[in-house]
Amino acid sequence: MSNSQHPEEKPLAPGLYLVATPIGNLEDIPLRALRVLRSVDRIACEDTRQTQKLLNHYGIEKPTVSYHLHNEAARTEELIAALQQGGRIAIVSDAGMPGIADPGALVAQAAIAAGVPVFPIPGANAALSALVASGLPTEQFSFHGFLPARQGQRRSYLEALAQTTTNHAHTLIFYEAPHRIAEALADVELAFGPAHRVVLARELTKLHEEFLRGTVAEVRAVLEARDNIRGEMVLLLEGRTPEDNTATAAAHTQSIATQVAVLMQQENLSKKDALKRVARERGIGKSEAYRELQREKR
Ligand code: SAM
Repeated sequence: MSNSQHPEEKPLAPGLYLVATPIGNLEDIPLRALRVLRSVDRIACEDTRQTQKLLNHYGIEKPTVSYHLHNEAARTEELIAALQQGGRIAIVSDAGMPGIADPGALVAQAAIAAGVPVFPIPGANAALSALVASGLPTEQFSFHGFLPARQGQRRSYLEALAQTTTNHAHTLIFYEAPHRIAEALADVELAFGPAHRVVLARELTKLHEEFLRGTVAEVRAVLEARDNIRGEMVLLLEGRTPEDNTATAAAHTQSIATQVAVLMQQENLSKKDALKRVARERGIGKSEAYRELQREKR
């Protein structure tokens, strides 16, 4: 018989285990993750109540301890001390991979610095799940976490990205909250132009999973027609080329009257809707856009 034991029988090596948990569908948890959660000494959780639901579902009884943004530094010290004694500790976040827009990276860095083995236990992740089913290129991508919540910072961030991304094969991935998605998309339209391709992946792996694919203007229109916008979401943008940048810049130097006329013709918008769109793209109010239009006529 070979000396390689069945993994189920192997005692778990001491160390830190970064365990992915489901992002919605409770079935999305690897067998290895379940074995690790059953075998560690304790589980450090972003929210112990949230993780307890998962543990209950799989009949796992294990001590849990909280490990979140606000106690990350202090708790890291404590966890590293236990790991240095030969402990086996799992880190989980509320959903997906710990360390990805979630706590986990700090304790991993501290464990590495302390010479403690760190084991990734891969599984669900919202960004990658959205990317592979988005229909956008997957050969190159960059993940940007949450967009800045403040409008000014968000606009500068997106404008800088629009200038620096240089090919269509590079997909940009963001996490966004439902109450901010409308304004985030408005800013994407400003920076990348209304015809830029985007995908909004909502409620992945859950009952109401949905992919909205189209231009920024189309996806915005779909969302605007809804009474409310709910659920967890990932926003993906196609990359852009320097030629796209020139086209957007050119659109911004056109007169309002020309932009309105182009939109009325190309997108079949009413004059009012076209003006509304131009105002949005320019980051100005509707009445300001109207006054500007009147000034241009003089
Ligand atoms: N660590 C997680 C991961 O690996 O994906 C991400 C945690 S981050 C705090 C939470 C954000 O991830 C949500 O606001 C949303 O943008 C995205 N997200 C998480 N679950 C999702 C789902 N089921 N569908 C779409 N987006 C999701």
